[in-house]
Amino acid sequence: MSELSCGIRLADDEDARTFELSDYEGARARWCPGCGDHSVLTAMQKLLTAEQLRPESTVFVSGIGCSSRFPHYMKTYGFHGIHGRALPVATGIKLHRPDLDVFVVMGDGDCCSIGAAHWVHALRYNPDMVVLLLDNGIYGLTKNQTSPTTPQGLPSNTQPRGSFLPALNPLTVSLGVTNASFVAQTAEFVPAHLYATLRAAYRHKGLSFVRVLQRCPIYTPGIYADAVKKPALVELLVHEDGIPVPEIEGIYKQHLHHDPRDLHAARRLAEDHDPIRLGLFYRDENRPRYEDLRRVAPKTSQERIALLNAELDRYAV
Ligand code: SF4
Repeated sequence: MSELSCGIRLADDEDARTFELSDYEGARARWCPGCGDHSVLTAMQKLLTAEQLRPESTVFVSGIGCSSRFPHYMKTYGFHGIHGRALPVATGIKLHRPDLDVFVVMGDGDCCSIGAAHWVHALRYNPDMVVLLLDNGIYGLTKNQTSPTTPQGLPSNTQPRGSFLPALNPLTVSLGVTNASFVAQTAEFVPAHLYATLRAAYRHKGLSFVRVLQRCPIYTPGIYADAVKKPALVELLVHEDGIPVPEIEGIYKQHLHHDPRDLHAARRLAEDHDPIRLGLFYRDENRPRYEDLRRVAPKTSQERIALLNAELDRYAV
């Protein structure tokens, strides 16, 4: 018999369970055919299988948007929240239950617009969880409105003559936040790189921010079309302490040696959009995590029952 930090006791035969891919498959995904979200879902289910995460100890949190349907498609706990509020919900879960594996899935409208303040502060709080920004450069669920990451000049329903402003850069924003501890970029159309990045993000102790370049064939079919067809437009960040993906290095032949401990170099490299850089920009495992600073020693079941009885006794007549 073993006991989780929350006091839940597990029988030995529960600890010995092994999980198959199907143990993580929730409802059938309703995204459009060809949507890049399918690729991320597959990689995530594969990761949970490889890491043998207990479904009852795993939580997916989302806000609103196409990608925010993610928790419905995982057979774990999930919280499909309100627009832009995935991160405070997830931070609260992690603070109360640090033993859980927490994943957050947001789109670019969710994270970079209405949720932008939460994004900045979650990076600074650095709770141990994986945060995915599925960036397709548009509001897809509400049918084609300009988002903060829409490329300048791209028409939408809200800006039919083309997006007025230069696109916000989620990497430079994240790398500019004090206490950010893990910032990476990958693409759902490079599945091996996507999987390796998710695995590195999961194993990092602290908030892992991963921008996933994601195709939306309905509203922004052009923004990654060239990069999908021409590997020469993609540059891999390589380093022995980075995220090695040797099986694709022969296809993506542009490599840039980058030490992920070098924050200043990471910021400089993140400024460029051309070529598209995939890899680990920055990682520092020694950054403080909010749940460690604020942790209250877990109580046993007996202690919790005694506290509950004492509380109830206050109202005894
Ligand atoms: Fe995916 Fe775009 Fe369809 Fe939304 S609208 S499900 S992002 S392809």
